[in-house]
Amino acid sequence: MLVTVATYSFPHEAHIAKGQLEAVDIPAFVADEHTINMQWLYSNAMGGVRLQVPEEFAAQAIEVLKEPVEMEHIPDSEFGPEPESAVCPHCGGELGEPYMAGRYPALVGLLFLGLPLWRIKKVQKCLSCGKTTKAV
Ligand SMILES: [Zn+2]
Repeated sequence: MLVTVATYSFPHEAHIAKGQLEAVDIPAFVADEHTINMQWLYSNAMGGVRLQVPEEFAAQAIEVLKEPVEMEHIPDSEFGPEPESAVCPHCGGELGEPYMAGRYPALVGLLFLGLPLWRIKKVQKCLSCGKTTKAV
């Protein structure tokens, strides 16, 4: 039989925990998710989204859920994914590490004025043809 090892106010929290358990081969199930999506305002009144595991895994699951969630498992929706293996649009060659374009004094000026860092152009230089490409 299934036992509830944790409850969450929102389905995505339950799914992060479910992923934690499945990563260590504990079968996990999210209960009440459908009901919560239909009537999420009442989720707390109903006890939230329940995370359930087979009874024999319960003690192990509770131990796993005590561990902090590793940052790598959380989608970085605010900044977007970092490009890992971009290729040069000119020759298809390998691109080097992204770096900040522009001269150093300009960069300091931007920082001093408190402008957001994302406004500074990030570029990557091709290791084959040497042309620079704006980093995505
Ligand atoms: Zn190139």
